[in-house]
Amino acid sequence: MSIYPAPLENLIRHLARMPGIGQKSAARVALHILKQPRELADDLSRSLLDVKDKIRFCSVCFNFTDEDPCSICSDESRANGVICAVEGPGDQLAIEESGVFKGKYHVLHGVLSPLDGVGPEDLKIGELLTRLEKEKICEVIMAINPTTEGEATVSFLAKLLSDRGITLTRIALGIPMGGDLKYMDAMTLRHALKSRTCL
Ligand SMILES: [Zn+2]
Repeated sequence: MSIYPAPLENLIRHLARMPGIGQKSAARVALHILKQPRELADDLSRSLLDVKDKIRFCSVCFNFTDEDPCSICSDESRANGVICAVEGPGDQLAIEESGVFKGKYHVLHGVLSPLDGVGPEDLKIGELLTRLEKEKICEVIMAINPTTEGEATVSFLAKLLSDRGITLTRIALGIPMGGDLKYMDAMTLRHALKSRTCL
């Protein structure tokens, strides 16, 4: 039998299903919501429904958006012929937050993973190819996470785009800011040496 009244137990159960939230954190959040004025619960439930009702994928870059095309795709000042291909919407947000990239994005929605049954047709690769022609793209930057599947995806795309007259680049892999060479794994060091740049 639960130590909490049923409605509270119910909320804790739902919260505990969220990624990164265990039973204890779920109970803490639920008790916090309970203690706050009713407005918090109202705002929270409205936000949850808004996200489900209003957010969809941009039909051009396949990022999350509440307007189609999204604000980046419809920003003409960003039509500079460069597309940054990323694995998921979170990766796009991270790059956008860095404030360095001024081109457009393409969200692939995953990486190739034959063992999990994810093939090229499951990703937004065909849509990327269509955009290359349509938007006169001269460079595609691969900002794919350096996992085994990510590397396979980069190789696949490199082969696919090789005869299209498009410059294909990838973000550098190596030592993170504040990192320490002594604690880096051999693979990271190999990539860092391979990706060295002139000063
Ligand atoms: Zn878009």
